[in-house]
Amino acid sequence: MAINIILLGPPGAGKGTQAQRLIQERGLVQLSTGDMLREARSSGTEMGKRVAEVMDRGELVTDEIVVGLIREKLGQGGKGFIFDGFPRTLAQADSLQALMAEMDQRIDAAIELRVDDAALVSRIVKRADEMRAAGQPVRPDDTPEVFADRLREYYKKTAPLLGYYYAKGQLRHVDGMAAMDAVAAQIGAILDKEAGRG
Ligand code: AMP
Repeated sequence: MAINIILLGPPGAGKGTQAQRLIQERGLVQLSTGDMLREARSSGTEMGKRVAEVMDRGELVTDEIVVGLIREKLGQGGKGFIFDGFPRTLAQADSLQALMAEMDQRIDAAIELRVDDAALVSRIVKRADEMRAAGQPVRPDDTPEVFADRLREYYKKTAPLLGYYYAKGQLRHVDGMAAMDAVAAQIGAILDKEAGRG
């Protein structure tokens, strides 16, 4: 039985890092709309060009675009999906629910990574420094200035999803301030419990 989870939380909470572990440890498929959009930009597709400015301002791109990206990938599920950075609006959450229903699937849990705002900014700065040190391109939206706008978008448009999934009985949370391994262990325990329910 496939298990499908959403990682919820502000930018810099560690969603991507935890998703990578879940790929390795559990064979889940990561669906990161941020990665898909960055790929579209770097390959210079029309859509990529259209969204570049919006992303660089730290704002959300349209629901239509990201739902379209997700729809294209949903055929590839095996052991299940980790939605990372999607959904980010209530409309996206409704679309996801409809898409899953079409495939006779459901979201098993939406896991909130709870992290203090102050810690987020320093994580973002650290991520940019590490990329630079490794000679890798730094995300243009990983600056303290743009980050403030990304965080505002999160509270305004994405945080309402916590209530949305709570009302459905699907919301879980982990302490995102804990060490990476400890966060992974907490997520693992949630998945085991969900898998056990069948
Ligand atoms: P991320 O890598 O998840 O932090 O996403 C980087 C940027 O891509 C965001 O700041 C948005 O501009 C855009 N983006 C990613 N996912 C979504 C989404 N689900 N809805 C709207 N915009 C998104």
